Amino acid sequence: KVVIQNGIYHNRHINVVYSFDLNFYYDNRGETCMLVLKNVNKIFHDTHAVVDLNLSLQKGEIYGLLGANGAGKTTTMKMLLNLIEPTSGSIRIFNRDIRLEEKKILPRIGSLIESPGFYPNLTGTENLRIFAKLRGIPRTDAIEQALKLVNLPYKDKKLYSQYSLGMKQRLAIALAVMHDPEILILDEPINGLDPIGIAEIRTFIEDLSKNRGKTILISSHILSEIAVLADDIGIIDKGVLIEEGSMKELEEKNGKYVHFKVSDNAQAARILSVYYKESNFKVSGNQDINVYNLSISIPDIVRSFVQEGVDVMDAHLCEDTLEDYFKKVTGGEGIA
Ligand code: ATP
Repeated sequence: KVVIQNGIYHNRHINVVYSFDLNFYYDNRGETCMLVLKNVNKIFHDTHAVVDLNLSLQKGEIYGLLGANGAGKTTTMKMLLNLIEPTSGSIRIFNRDIRLEEKKILPRIGSLIESPGFYPNLTGTENLRIFAKLRGIPRTDAIEQALKLVNLPYKDKKLYSQYSLGMKQRLAIALAVMHDPEILILDEPINGLDPIGIAEIRTFIEDLSKNRGKTILISSHILSEIAVLADDIGIIDKGVLIEEGSMKELEEKNGKYVHFKVSDNAQAARILSVYYKESNFKVSGNQDINVYNLSISIPDIVRSFVQEGVDVMDAHLCEDTLEDYFKKVTGGEGIA
């Protein structure tokens, strides 16, 4: 029997106490972390591609990394696979440092980062057979199981060159899961797929997570795609993780503000700054002013505006959708 208390590992049977760094195994909710990034940076010459990134994934969770092109998603995933070295920070997977113990970690990870380079004139099964041999996968049923999981036939004469885009993506995922990894890292696996293709991938990604306990990191630049797949979403913009939470949490958190339509918004802005010490607002045109601090009292502010000679035509709480918000932060991308 093993008991863990305050960072100390007690084995009562042999009466030994081991101390080890619990930060990497348990988060503040007491959940098991499979993968933890702490203050990770990547600088390429003059591009700060990943900025002070902190991220942790619990066992069995599907985490969606959402960001426009160039946001730093692929760079993050490549660092997790030790394909590129972080400029600074720490990456621990299975409580091991990826830079020091790559050989122990990588066999337990499946990834789809770039197109795997399948042979066009071979079938899906033949292609997987080549990879299985190269990787020394001993299980004879590994290929059949992986194909079954992604709903591709094992005995089929269709060549890879005749596959649809959806089938190609599913074969790439079959390759990523063939060695039964505990963590899956999938870079834009649904890129370019139609809604049916996305629904198919969603079904088995959910199966992998919910029924087989796999931990999955998946990236996309389309909010609607990631929203249906991920338990938790992190929005990354210019290398910075700007928001994180479940879809519901993000929706609640974002895009709420109080909109005032007034006769003179410059005067209204002055009242907010001087009387209320409020700086979290934006004016537009001559009459509109949005206040993003929701703890303000709308009746108090309306009263102050009127007392100072500013007429108020309208005042109400507005809500942007998460899509509006994401569009704003990514400069217009991300809407499917
Ligand atoms: P995409 O969906 O377009 O791949 P991404 O979110 O995956 O976008 P990254 O590929 O991680 O973004 O790129 C992040 C930034 O780092 C970009 O500005 C990119 O140009 C830059 N970058 C990536 N790899 C390199 C490299 N090897 N050398 C120099 N700059 C790079």
